[in-house]
Amino acid sequence: MGLFTRDIKTMNDLFIHQLQDIYYAEQQLVKALPKMADKASDKQLKQDFLTHLDETKVHVQRLEQVFQMHGAQVKAVDCPAIDGIIEEADEVTGEVADKAVLDAALINAAQAAEHYEIARYGSLIAWARQLGRTDCASILQKTLDEEKKCDQKLTSLAEGKVNLRAAS
Ligand code: FE
Ligand code: FE
Repeated sequence: MGLFTRDIKTMNDLFIHQLQDIYYAEQQLVKALPKMADKASDKQLKQDFLTHLDETKVHVQRLEQVFQMHGAQVKAVDCPAIDGIIEEADEVTGEVADKAVLDAALINAAQAAEHYEIARYGSLIAWARQLGRTDCASILQKTLDEEKKCDQKLTSLAEGKVNLRAAS
């Protein structure tokens, strides 16, 4: 982002830049989610990761659609924030030997990524509306709803059984 921030002058520039940022992040998550599913022991957690992988592939496509509707080039820019979240997840989960504790760590890592996405999509939707792009906003809203649903599923799974198992 650093080198190019001088090119962001208007809210429209900012909107496009953050679309490029989340486009990169979604692509990285398409690569990370199968690895997280592999590491998960709890069947439901594994399935939730795979379901969200399918959703994430659609998130990538929706962003391509939004770029095109807005007349912007379909392009990704590095997102050091998601790289950091994924890197930290790799580090922490690589160190956990106990399977139940590993599941708790995986949920924690996944929720960090979901919360990042929720923050980004929330702003993108508000900016799209401000720019008169309610068409783009409604597409982005579908993704935001899925990110929130995924986050809630992870919370119930952690609180419902994974944390209890990890602590026993
Ligand atoms: Fe996503
Ligand atoms: Fe997500």
